[in-house]
Amino acid sequence: MSSPAVTISQRGVERVLSGHVWIYRADLLDAGEACPGDVVRMQDRKHHFWGQALYSNKSQIALRLLTRDERPFDAAFLAERIATAANLRRQVASDAQAYRLVSAEGDLLPSLIIDRYGPCFVIQTLTQGTDRLKPQIVEILQQTFSPRSILERNDVAVRGLEGLPEQKGTLAGENINEVEVEENGLRFVFDLMGGQKTGGYLDQRENRLAARPYARGCALDCFCYAGGFALHLARQCDSVLGVDSSPEALHLARRNQQLNGFTNLEWKEANCFDFLKAADQQKERYDTIVLDPPAFARQKSKLEAAWRGYKELNLRALKILNPGGFLITCSCSHHVSEADLLAIIAEAALDAHRTVTVVERRTQSRDHPILLTVPETHYLKCLILRVI
Ligand code: SAH
Repeated sequence: MSSPAVTISQRGVERVLSGHVWIYRADLLDAGEACPGDVVRMQDRKHHFWGQALYSNKSQIALRLLTRDERPFDAAFLAERIATAANLRRQVASDAQAYRLVSAEGDLLPSLIIDRYGPCFVIQTLTQGTDRLKPQIVEILQQTFSPRSILERNDVAVRGLEGLPEQKGTLAGENINEVEVEENGLRFVFDLMGGQKTGGYLDQRENRLAARPYARGCALDCFCYAGGFALHLARQCDSVLGVDSSPEALHLARRNQQLNGFTNLEWKEANCFDFLKAADQQKERYDTIVLDPPAFARQKSKLEAAWRGYKELNLRALKILNPGGFLITCSCSHHVSEADLLAIIAEAALDAHRTVTVVERRTQSRDHPILLTVPETHYLKCLILRVI
């Protein structure tokens, strides 16, 4: 059975030619017989074929390109895409037990996330298209990896844009809430069912390791979640304080501390903006500071507020950093570019009367591939800075 055809505008065609994988609703001229979540064949007004895509009847992103190829996008094609993604991980995450196996657009599987935590897999199907493919995805994972458990963490608001319900639960195998896996030689418990995201922030794995050699003295991990950076810094530092506003996150952080037997870590439940302001006023000083806030600019309209937020955080951090100290500062807002972040921090450094050098300019871990022609896939910036 051939898949339904939809007609896209010339601007939609240009979008495909530009290498992007999203076609907006305004560029969908005729959805024909397409049903929500169908794999459709995209054609222009002259019936010229432009590729196969996942169709949504709700989202502003009406079509997500899967392939420019004519070959039907069936279960075998899907399995090949997952295998291709897995091959990359063998090269870039071979020593990791927890990593992103499939990173949506970055692996040409738009709106599909598959995270691996040792023997457990957590998936997110964020559009009508990938949601329909869920049974096939589960089957492929079972055949390829024989996992102990496959969970879905589809309790995310973006599914609302697709008219899909928020839901989470076990799709196959054992009912598992938590799993313990190693990261960079440290042990972590991941709360797959109750934790943030799919349980952890896998995109920072390489940055947590990269931060370690610079860490020393008295360290501060702001927005610490389950202590990812803090634990990486602990061996190098005299003391580490992790701050987060979520009590659940700090509960995990304490468990992770105990798992690794560190005695030089402390945790504080607080809003990091308030905490940094008070620390500045009380003239506290640190030698190493990590700033890893949530995305402040999820939409372009929030850019100005985001700019202020990043500036405030970095200004305070630079003020309480001792000379010779390191600031590891991050932004996961796609709309804030690396150039923007550097400019924001330059402003903050001038206001704080600090001279700052850029030691490393980093991005998301390599298991979160950046698709060259899809700028949205480059979202995480991590700068390692030194105050002279
Ligand atoms: N650095 C972590 C990930 C941080 S994610 C890691 O490597 O795993 C962002 C964290 O910021 C979340 O844990 C969230 O609970 C916390 N958070 C969000 N807003 C906050 C605020 N205003 N003050 C303190 N923590 C906040």
